[in-house]
Amino acid sequence: MVYALDPSTKRLGIMGGTFDPIHHGHLVAASEVAHKFGLDQVVFVPTGQPWQKEVEHVTTAEHRYLMSVIATASDERFEVSRVDIDRPGPTFTVDTLRDLRKSLGNDVEFFFITGADALSKILTWRDHEEVVKMAHLVGVTRPGHKLINPGLPASAITLIEIPALAISSTDVRARVALGEPIRYLVPEGVAFHIHKHGLYLDADPSDRGNPQGDM
Ligand code: ATP
Ligand code: MG
Repeated sequence: MVYALDPSTKRLGIMGGTFDPIHHGHLVAASEVAHKFGLDQVVFVPTGQPWQKEVEHVTTAEHRYLMSVIATASDERFEVSRVDIDRPGPTFTVDTLRDLRKSLGNDVEFFFITGADALSKILTWRDHEEVVKMAHLVGVTRPGHKLINPGLPASAITLIEIPALAISSTDVRARVALGEPIRYLVPEGVAFHIHKHGLYLDADPSDRGNPQGDM
């Protein structure tokens, strides 16, 4: 089972990401799109664990999954799926959508949510033409990035403006490593989880992220 989908869900938002860690920029994007598109639920899908040696510092999938669950626990519209972290190898959005479609059936409409930075790379995603057929794309504004249609048919994509939160996971990790505050950037429970498990204390502020897969 991908996750416990409410059977009345007909319009589903899907938000993929490394979520290392999940922060309020992710949550406000999901909330705004849910409101504007009348979505019944949004499922957060943390990417799988990259296995190459040079990216061994990426936080384990289990921690990223747990932080996503903690961050979304109080919002009845939000769920988290293990579909990408349980699939071996790098994460490609086309596989995420295929697996969700297989488990949820054809009655649920998919809306794939992406920030302006991720959207600009979509033409490099594996099988992006199939991605666009399987889900309506919703591009959201992100400070520091230009939000434009990267060359998809106009009917496949909607661009929307959301409240600007200049937060990135990279910056949160750097702040932890430097002993700077992360309060109000991530949900309180996520900050507790980070400190409890000593995550990001040795983060290299200049070089993080997930170099494999689509995101
Ligand atoms: P990192 O710095 O590690 O790349 P990130 O903050 O970019 O982390 P991701 O997990 O890479 O977070 O992003 C997942 C999705 O959320 C992407 O589509 C990204 O564009 C979007 N996103 C992340 N932060 C914001 C934000 N502050 N505002 C709008 N969209 C965001
Ligand atoms: Mg990113």
